[in-house]
Amino acid sequence: MAGRFAPSPTGDLHVGNLRTALVAWLAARSTGIDFIVRMEDLDRVTSSPAWEQRQLADLAAIGLNWDGDVVRQSERFDRYRAALEEVRRSDRAYPCYCTRREIRAEIDAAVSAPHGHVPDGAYPGTCRDLTSRERAQRERAGRVPAWRLRTGGETFSLTDAIAGDYTGAVDDFVLQRSDGVPAYNLAVVIDDSAQGVTQVVRGDDLLSSTPRHLLLQRLVGAAHPSYCHVPLVVEADGTRLAKRDRAVTLADLATAGHGAAEVLSVLAGSLDLAEPGEPVRAEQLVDRFDTSLVPRRPAQIDDLFPVV
Ligand code: GLU
Repeated sequence: MAGRFAPSPTGDLHVGNLRTALVAWLAARSTGIDFIVRMEDLDRVTSSPAWEQRQLADLAAIGLNWDGDVVRQSERFDRYRAALEEVRRSDRAYPCYCTRREIRAEIDAAVSAPHGHVPDGAYPGTCRDLTSRERAQRERAGRVPAWRLRTGGETFSLTDAIAGDYTGAVDDFVLQRSDGVPAYNLAVVIDDSAQGVTQVVRGDDLLSSTPRHLLLQRLVGAAHPSYCHVPLVVEADGTRLAKRDRAVTLADLATAGHGAAEVLSVLAGSLDLAEPGEPVRAEQLVDRFDTSLVPRRPAQIDDLFPVV
């Protein structure tokens, strides 16, 4: 049994990532299970070992430790390919020749929006029923396909530790990109299962992808972990943190006079685990932690680190 933090090493972690990591660590430590770190470096263009080292150093700087070796997805492509093969053999995967732009155009042109929760940019099914002739035409035109899962509009439900009951439809999502890189949605299911992850804590931007994971888990015979989707740290207007405009990484915050100990204290305060300004160590928070304490609303960066 294990919990995990699974960052993509494509830049420095920002306070939102660190806050989610803290919740994931506390959730694992407070329930006595292992805590593992997995580097989601599927994309070798945007990921780098240097970012990985900085991310690990930042986790350590706020007092988070992990069990066992850090696992890298870039070293596990064989497993993802084997899983894709299995899905293909059961005729649940099909090649998709659409470009992102074509998909966007098709979604925009759709008369009515789909009902219920569907993941952002849900695939409209363009290539689902191509004939072999149509496929051959596209290949002759030089198109290299991605591979998508064939779904039937199933919905999946979960009870999230923070978001509560959630039901979402599953679209025909990508299993392998057209450049041959396995997709996150496939890799995350294979790895969580292979690594014995029973507790998934991550940012709530991934809540709408979770029904996809539940479906894949069923297809590959993996157990469903518990889920806890943590509201993000956002700008005052609710948008994603803009790393460019202000200090949001540990390195930038240190330059602005906020050391790692203070950052931990601020993050603990934002989770109702510490009084404002109270110096804390991560271990001290383990006994105080309860997922029911995690605020249900996004945290605003200005409330955490007011710009003076
Ligand atoms: N690698 C993803 C991210 O950095 C997280 C994936 C997950 O926790 O399932 O946003």
